[in-house]
Amino acid sequence: IQTILLKNRPIGTPKLSDFEFKETDKDLTIQDGELLLETAYVSVDPYLRGRMSDAKSYIPSFELNKPIQCGIVAKVIASKNKNFSSGDFVTGMLLWQTKQVSTGEGLLKVDDSKAPLSAYLGVLGMTGLTAYLGLNEIGKPKAGETLVVSGAAGAVGSVVGQIGKILGLTVIGIAGTDEKVNLLKTKFGFDAGINYNTSKDISEDIAKAAPNGVDIYFDNVGGPISDAILFNINRFARLVICGAISVYNATETPKSLCVQPFLVKNSALMQGFIVSNYSEKFPEAMSHLSQWLAQEKLTYSETVVHGFEKIPEAFIALFEGKNKGKMIVKL
Ligand code: NDP
Repeated sequence: IQTILLKNRPIGTPKLSDFEFKETDKDLTIQDGELLLETAYVSVDPYLRGRMSDAKSYIPSFELNKPIQCGIVAKVIASKNKNFSSGDFVTGMLLWQTKQVSTGEGLLKVDDSKAPLSAYLGVLGMTGLTAYLGLNEIGKPKAGETLVVSGAAGAVGSVVGQIGKILGLTVIGIAGTDEKVNLLKTKFGFDAGINYNTSKDISEDIAKAAPNGVDIYFDNVGGPISDAILFNINRFARLVICGAISVYNATETPKSLCVQPFLVKNSALMQGFIVSNYSEKFPEAMSHLSQWLAQEKLTYSETVVHGFEKIPEAFIALFEGKNKGKMIVKL
């Protein structure tokens, strides 16, 4: 059994040396009510960076020298729990560990005849729910409006943009490479894309792509990219603050534009979003996401990295933009 522990709280961008691998040949046994799980797919997510620091947040920090926990799809290989049978696949918050014992609490069975197992970590999992609920609950989209999405070629962003198109919006995505911008337009049906690394003036490029102004901004990145949107927002615009990956590794307090004048002038709403606060809406969101997927109105990309030992590398690669769509590690 292999486990990955958090060895140091990363300073700046996480490094491989912040993680420690442990291996034991001890067999795991299960008691009544428990199940033995073998990890199949591991989700690596930007928000884990926050849990690696000891700053107070909406979710407790990881403890040093303890295994890291995240979204995982696992196979039940033995069960003494009447709700699960050997051979079932489940998803839930589990450990970066090749095998583990669970009480079954918080685990959901997943059906690989309905969608590939890895999809339950992405479009039919936490990132899909984030896209659907962030856009609908805070963005409150109305057909004909203009939506800008940053981190647009990632797991959340690519789904936000597609839902925007399903709901009749004009959708503009911002991403870090020409290849990603191209993917937005060809695979995900966005109306326009901006490469923030080569744009001379992001604000000007948004103005060109959104001649009617921006009604909804779905923010995955924060920092200067998000500042550029403020110059283009319409009256009663909604700014969904879902993430701020551009500053997750900052070692000093980031400097940004003063947002208040932009919000006042436009009677705009800026609201932070955390998907777990909307759990009562998960069934509604899942039903729409799975229906759109079955109808091929929604598609998704994955970057799949192979091997348990590659988990930290795959996690770090998120901050280098190496993924298109959901970053997944397959064991
Ligand atoms: P992604 O699949 O979008 O992967 C991260 C992407 O971020 C990279 O591919 C990269 O794309 C981009 N990126 C990395 N560094 C920077 C930077 N310095 N500036 C701009 N872009 C950067 O991850 P997710 O879809 O899982 O998450 C997207 C965001 O949503 C994150 O901020 C995450 O924390 C947040 N989130 C929030 C949730 C909530 O409940 N609030 C739930 C889930 C996610 P590129 O090549 O384009 O730079």
